[in-house]
Amino acid sequence: MIKNPSIQFLGAAREVGRSGFLIDAGDKLLLDYGVKFGQNNQIVEPLRPKTNLDAIILSHAHLDHSGNIPKLFTDSNSLTYLTPPTLELSNLLWEDSLKIAGHNGVHAGFSRDELHRIHRYSFPVGYKRKLHITQDATLEFLDAGHILGSAMPKLTFGKNKTLLYTGDFNPMETRLHNGADLKAGKIDSLIIESTYGNRNHPPRKELEKVFAEGVQDIIDRDGWALIPCFAIGRGQEVIDILRSYNVEGDIFYDGMGQKAAHIMLNHPDYLRDSKHLKKSLKSAFFVRSIRDRKKALKKPCIIVSSAGMMQGGPILFYTRKLRLDSNSKMFFTGYQADGTIGKKLLDTKKFVEEKTQLDVGFEVEKYDFSAHAQKDGMLKAIDKWNPEKIFLVHGDEEIMFFFKDCIKEMGFKNVEMPKQGQTMKLF
Ligand SMILES: [Zn+2]
Ligand SMILES: [Zn+2]
Repeated sequence: MIKNPSIQFLGAAREVGRSGFLIDAGDKLLLDYGVKFGQNNQIVEPLRPKTNLDAIILSHAHLDHSGNIPKLFTDSNSLTYLTPPTLELSNLLWEDSLKIAGHNGVHAGFSRDELHRIHRYSFPVGYKRKLHITQDATLEFLDAGHILGSAMPKLTFGKNKTLLYTGDFNPMETRLHNGADLKAGKIDSLIIESTYGNRNHPPRKELEKVFAEGVQDIIDRDGWALIPCFAIGRGQEVIDILRSYNVEGDIFYDGMGQKAAHIMLNHPDYLRDSKHLKKSLKSAFFVRSIRDRKKALKKPCIIVSSAGMMQGGPILFYTRKLRLDSNSKMFFTGYQADGTIGKKLLDTKKFVEEKTQLDVGFEVEKYDFSAHAQKDGMLKAIDKWNPEKIFLVHGDEEIMFFFKDCIKEMGFKNVEMPKQGQTMKLF
């Protein structure tokens, strides 16, 4: 290890999205390399690493962590470490990015060639295995509890200097996942997300119950329950919740989540209760054609479909068709970013597509399901890890300032809020 290893923040610095952190400990290691979606779904990239990479380490499949990796392979190849489910899920999302770019008549910045090359240079590794990735650095993945295969990479440099990167993590148990594995041993430096550094979530079990009852009410009054969901995790979780609470009504499952569901069931070891999930998913009708889609509109039912923020996907088709049905209701189940169709619908009850703006007759409500740690959970984790130095990333600036104060009140002195492009001492 060189004398003063450093870290450069290429993205996710005082913002959510485009995570990318370049570590120089002699060897050059890149932690995550994602994209951010700006106005009109435009892709915003992190800074480019100005060096050859010895390794890429990917925490999980979400595009804000994985989305820009294929571009790194246009002019070089790097060994990429990730869990087996992360490889499959990332590939699903990368393929989808290519499809969307093609559909919009733009170039994605990479092609299938790059995806093939990533596969060749990928090194899938499970949780809790220590791996020498360079002469000087050891990598271990700990379960992050966020989505299928999500990991918190722990790096040990030289004999005993340690860095833990949380990626996106959730210490709390959900239907699909055990909480994050916080038993990380001695941690010198910590890079921690701060998405919800200013607040706690409603208790999960109560929220699930209220949600299931709400869906049942809509079916009972002969309406459609429209549930826009993220393709990875939330859709499958929602179906599992509805079946656990014995909600009566057919469930139609549409969009990319179906493929993610198959990947999930292929990795039962990465799920909390794969048997239960399998049973729940089996009870849902997987929509495969326009005909199936029309079938869903014949009689009131539950429709679970991507995209979660309504930026595309079959949910738009159902919304157009059921727009004026006052017996129906849309249940948002995740974060709605500013400028998205979902956010506009939630705030104004207007369905805005390109230049058209239509009134909506159905009810709209948001349920605060989250796959991220809440404030108290993060503070508890920090207390347990007891790091010397803390870097806050992946959060809105205002929230970070608040979160930083909370951490300092606990007695931690060395808390940084790096800016984009800034390089700091790692230890
Ligand atoms: Zn994530
Ligand atoms: Zn993220």
